[in-house]
Amino acid sequence: MSRWVTDTIEELRPYVAGKPVEELARELGITDAIKLASNENPLGPSPKAIEAARSVLREVHRYPDAAYYTFRERLAEFHGVEMNDIVAGNGSNELIDLLIRTFTTGEHHVVFADPSFVVYKLSSMAHGVPFTAVPLTDLTHDVDKLLAAVRPETRLLFVANPNNPTGTHVGRAAVEKLLREAPEHVIVVMDEAYIQYADADDYPDSLELRGLREHLVVLRTFSKVYGLAAMRIGYGVAPSTIVGYLDRVRAPFNLNIVGQAAALAALGDEQHVHRSVEMNGAERRRLLAELPPLGLAVAPSQANFVYADLGRPAGQIYDALLKKGVIVRVVGPTSVRITVGTPKENDRLLETLPGVLS
Ligand SMILES: *Cc1c(COP(=O)(O)O)cnc(C)c1O
Repeated sequence: MSRWVTDTIEELRPYVAGKPVEELARELGITDAIKLASNENPLGPSPKAIEAARSVLREVHRYPDAAYYTFRERLAEFHGVEMNDIVAGNGSNELIDLLIRTFTTGEHHVVFADPSFVVYKLSSMAHGVPFTAVPLTDLTHDVDKLLAAVRPETRLLFVANPNNPTGTHVGRAAVEKLLREAPEHVIVVMDEAYIQYADADDYPDSLELRGLREHLVVLRTFSKVYGLAAMRIGYGVAPSTIVGYLDRVRAPFNLNIVGQAAALAALGDEQHVHRSVEMNGAERRRLLAELPPLGLAVAPSQANFVYADLGRPAGQIYDALLKKGVIVRVVGPTSVRITVGTPKENDRLLETLPGVLS
């Protein structure tokens, strides 16, 4: 069978998702599990988004507008950009894959950091595109090393800012340097899935830096602070020439109308976003303060999760937490990523950890 696929697909392992609470109930009979594994908004979606989604259900027998005109128009207005500079996808996951399919072949090359969002690597491998995974320096993207990894055949360079799984950010000066110095044949992709949670003074919003570089794609998603992960809506802002090429390759109806309606309503519910960001900020500070005394080495986080090195095999701690109904994510041999939950969920995490670690 192995000859049916390319070598890289043979090597690929499926994306490992955070364990759903239903699975834990099925497997271990634990019915009150909490999931701190997938960086979802623990407050759920905005009630306005739920209502908007409900209101379009009567129209689902019709195909969506293939150009999703209204959706792009509203997003363009929100960001103050041209609507022809907006491309959207079934989650930003699809856009990452679409960028790779549109702009690279096996003769090209992709650059991203390690560890960073695993989809950059999965998609490169799926399409047989060579890549360089550049090690982080002090758990943070190292712009000089990323630039040094660029080759004549490099077409895409991905930076998750803040980074997943470390939660660290690249500061304004370094991002500006990257945008200025990456060679012209490279499309720089700034993946800002967690931007709303970033509050560092030097955190740069790449949409404000579009003037520095023509070949720049900024990715955003409704899966995180907007609480719509299951709706699968992400989008990118890029020059219309890049959007035009992506439009040629993307599937015609890649954006479902229920998700579009929910996303636009969520975009308009500033109060829900504000509440979510405030809660995350307070609880993130608490976890960053209370995990180290338990022996976890945490990275500074600008996102809605905390990266922690346990100093021992992470799998054992993951399993022990699982048995207590606390689902986290293993992201390295000795490290885990813990999503910031509600105050109650974080209470449970902090009460459970000491017993599991001793
Ligand atoms: C969660 C996440 C995404 C969003 O993925 P969707 O497909 O939009 O749900 C994109 N990039 C990073 C770095 C992420 O962590």
